[in-house]
Amino acid sequence: MQLDLSGKVVLVTGAARGIGAAIADAFRAEGCTVVRLDLASDGFPADPDVDLVCDVRDSEATRALAADVERRFGRIDVLVNNAGILAEGLLESMGDDAWDRSFDVNVGGVFRMCKAVIPAMQRQRSGRIINAASFAAIVPSVGSGAYAASKAAVVQLTRVLASELGPYGITVNAYAPGMVPTAMNGFAEMPQAAQDRLLDTLSLRRWETPQDVAQLLVFLASDAAAYLTGALLDISGGKLATQMPQRAYELAAEAPTA
Ligand code: NAD
Repeated sequence: MQLDLSGKVVLVTGAARGIGAAIADAFRAEGCTVVRLDLASDGFPADPDVDLVCDVRDSEATRALAADVERRFGRIDVLVNNAGILAEGLLESMGDDAWDRSFDVNVGGVFRMCKAVIPAMQRQRSGRIINAASFAAIVPSVGSGAYAASKAAVVQLTRVLASELGPYGITVNAYAPGMVPTAMNGFAEMPQAAQDRLLDTLSLRRWETPQDVAQLLVFLASDAAAYLTGALLDISGGKLATQMPQRAYELAAEAPTA
């Protein structure tokens, strides 16, 4: 399979930590020039050449940033819209602010970043846009109303963009991770019983790693995925596959060993 991405210019939003940092590392390992975007923080920017402060809620900033990247690197081949926030709470008591922020970052951020890079990709007649959705876009959890609704919106935005950009040779896809312990969710800090309850919802019954996600994105950006567009790729370790997958583990535990 041909996964040669060397020389591609890749933008990754929310790349200072978590899954985004691993995505940036994976593309760098493939020989890409990776521009990491995030809000300013203690550790960011770390490399002033390729780390750019950008709030995806800011139209003007995203437009200026895309123009700057195209001027400096000559093109924009891949945009990964990874930046996202999780505002948890029951809908009955959720404030307007948490709801609005969820949509502003998770959906508005994707919309604004896409608008910013589309002119360059249209001129090139090529490009890959890859959007972070979530399993919650398909099967939401109690207390995830704003997050789940915003991620479902990302999936539909992806499909519409895929059709609008097909004539320019630009593909647009979304992916749905399952449960990756990061600062966003604190899974790894939960009591063991709570962790086990979550792990019991997975066919593969282990936490997802940021690298599990990053490897899918390398594939999506490669020539091997040239005919994939408008899709939602499930990379949830089987969270969306069956009910009660732990039953298989009970049966496997009873099976004779060699
Ligand atoms: P994280 O909180 O560790 O990282 C998110 C990054 O986005 C941070 O660096 C943050 O500063 C940045 N960000 C937030 N708001 C921003 C803004 N306005 N402008 C620019 N950058 C901004 O989260 P993560 O767990 O690494 O999640 C990454 C993506 O994957 C998110 O879109 C999330 O919804 C999605 N996802 C995560 C999981 C999981 O289990 N961790 C599951 C499904 C989907």
